[in-house]
Amino acid sequence: MPLNTIQLQLLKVQTASRKAVLVAVSKTRPVTEIEQAYQSGQRDFGENYVQELIEKQKQLPADIHWHFIGHLQRNKVKFIAPFVFLIHGVDSLNLLKEINKQALLHNRIIPCLLQVHIAEEESKFGFDASGVELLLASEDVRAMKNIKLCGLMGMATNTENEEQVRREFHSLGTLFKALQQPYPDFKILSMGMTTDYRIALEEGSTMVRIGSAIFGERTQT
Ligand SMILES: *Cc1c(COP(=O)(O)O)cnc(C)c1O
Repeated sequence: MPLNTIQLQLLKVQTASRKAVLVAVSKTRPVTEIEQAYQSGQRDFGENYVQELIEKQKQLPADIHWHFIGHLQRNKVKFIAPFVFLIHGVDSLNLLKEINKQALLHNRIIPCLLQVHIAEEESKFGFDASGVELLLASEDVRAMKNIKLCGLMGMATNTENEEQVRREFHSLGTLFKALQQPYPDFKILSMGMTTDYRIALEEGSTMVRIGSAIFGERTQT
């Protein structure tokens, strides 16, 4: 299935009506398909492998907002620090320190989201609610001048059970709202993918990351 431009336009309208940003997840897709989406006005793209992202970034227009949505290893931060628009999956203090260091080297302030583990299923990555609060309050983090913590990111359990997905997104939405009072920079709640973005928008998502609905099913993840 090629790039579905009609679906892309529909998603744009749907997300805009909720004042949310649509990130087109282009992982595993060729540069030509990203160009096609770009031609139709899409500027925000999400990738989750560093090597793939830097290859694509070199070949594509400079005004693309590249979102890093995957699990980021510390030793790879330096490759994306010069241009990355938003890092979605920050899941440790050490990673944040490295991002701050690399951002300083490139004279940038890199926007970041903290990944929160909301899925009831076991997952390796992400903070729990108290972990997020501890991190935000820590002196270490307050001293970092080259990162900007802009909000939270989460992934619901991959299940057909819509009640469960809603419950998980609702818990993240509640945490996000509670943190917006003490942290006014918190403006982004990144949640929702192809199968669950409608529920995510209803639960307060401000940014959805959608791949297969736009580019077709992937053979790899
Ligand atoms: C692949 C991926 C997506 C997009 O998934 P689709 O089901 O294709 O919409 C969103 N977020 C993350 C973190 C991903 O890795």
